[in-house]
Amino acid sequence: MYDPLHHVTPGTNEPYPNSYWADISGQAPEDDGMLNQDIDVDVCIIGAGYTGLSTALHLATEHGINATVVEANRTAWGCSGRNAGFILKTSGRKSFSQMQAQWGEEVMRGIYNEMTEGVDTVNQLIARGIDCDQQSNGYIKVAHKANKMDELVALAKLQQQMFGYDVQILSKDELHQHYMADQNAYGAIRYQDGFGLNPLKLAWGYQRLAREAGVTIHTGTPVEGWHEEGGAQVLRTPQATVRARKVVIATNGYTPKGFHQFVAGRTLPVLSQIIVTEPLSDEQIKACNLISSNVVMDTRALKYYYRKLPDNRLLFGGRGAISGKDAEDPFYANRLLSVLKTSFPALKDINYQYAWAGWISVALDDLPHIYQNPTQNVFYSMGYCGAGVSFSVQAGKRLAQKVAEQAVPNLPLYQKHLPKFPFAPFRRLGQWGYFHYGQFKDTYL
Ligand SMILES: Cc1cc2nc3c(=O)[nH]c(=O)nc-3n(C[C@H](O)[C@H](O)[C@H](O)COP(=O)(O)OP(=O)(O)OC[C@H]3O[C@@H](n4cnc5c(N)ncnc54)[C@H](O)[C@@H]3O)c2cc1C
Repeated sequence: MYDPLHHVTPGTNEPYPNSYWADISGQAPEDDGMLNQDIDVDVCIIGAGYTGLSTALHLATEHGINATVVEANRTAWGCSGRNAGFILKTSGRKSFSQMQAQWGEEVMRGIYNEMTEGVDTVNQLIARGIDCDQQSNGYIKVAHKANKMDELVALAKLQQQMFGYDVQILSKDELHQHYMADQNAYGAIRYQDGFGLNPLKLAWGYQRLAREAGVTIHTGTPVEGWHEEGGAQVLRTPQATVRARKVVIATNGYTPKGFHQFVAGRTLPVLSQIIVTEPLSDEQIKACNLISSNVVMDTRALKYYYRKLPDNRLLFGGRGAISGKDAEDPFYANRLLSVLKTSFPALKDINYQYAWAGWISVALDDLPHIYQNPTQNVFYSMGYCGAGVSFSVQAGKRLAQKVAEQAVPNLPLYQKHLPKFPFAPFRRLGQWGYFHYGQFKDTYL
């Protein structure tokens, strides 16, 4: 499997992974195919995931700038077509209380507003006619240990008080009775506004809206070389060259090795793995009391997440392998399956039908960053730390404003460069250490 720390290109026109989404979503919408003649454009966006598509869409609709998007493979071939489809009012891994302690109340609220606006924008875009199999509203955060329930209750109270956020506290019995009988849960809190959807159909919907607004999207067009010439950015693709006045790097966790010095060593690509089971029978659903199709995540440092899909399968996710060469080893899918069975022992004979993984982009300071170089002609958005389905849309909106030379909110998300990883060549070693620490913490602390 492509490994961004080792490979200099994600390939050309690679097929979608063997995912549930690729299997059930039907035909991809039309795009502009491989770029086969040299072009000269104002703005080129590299990467056709949510970030790239949202930037292009907002540039066209809010600023009258018709950008050209180049994508190495297919639209949403990266994370955007592989994720769990959880729409959450969050991104990065930094908690709001950490933000408050570091930057104060105003900045923390400003970031919360950005996350909220991200979810609102996703909903508005869906309302423009994107069919993406939305499920019922609700995001359940389960305590995987008794002491974690105290932390969740404190979090719920803080969020109710700070944002007037509607957060329910659920005892273990209430959770089992009204949502699902997860045997690993010691109780939970529940937000009313998260939900699940089909992530690939969402991206395809953005692509359709962007093209209707005048955006050109060249798939099968990897940027394989990049230099500056007479003030223009010159991007080399297999069959043609793009000359652009401004370039947006929207490659996130899929950014290849040595791609551009501006972003080198500033993120850590980490594999997240998903399995999707065979459809559950009515008896199995009853035995687990799996009433709800709310999205679920736990309190572990190395988190597990799941939801019941519209066709009664379970999607279950967690960490994957460390390197791309091990990504397809069934060990990682089987590990998820065995954890799933500890949550729902009645599913002891269930198997998975789909397993795949994708590269999330981790930032050293646990925060996404949307930034530009001093000459304001190279921009990027990266570091969502595995939570980017809704925030990527907001990031694209802010990127578009930056490209159009408009002011954006004065928040660390938008005003600061991603911090560099110290000893960047050894990032994987650090990750290995963190996984071991996480395992220890989740078991004993
Ligand atoms: C298994 C998994 C589950 C997840 N679940 C959730 C979830 O439930 N909720 C949530 O909020 N977030 C989730 N995420 C994270 C979320 O999917 C990402 O944050 C989001 O999709 C990032 O979108 P993006 O457009 O920035 O990047 P991507 O979608 O990764 O797009 C980057 C694109 O750049 C292209 N590219 C790379 N190099 C080049 C090049 N040289 N030339 C041209 N193109 C190039 C790639 O082919 C790729 O298509 C999950 C991620 C994974 C992997």
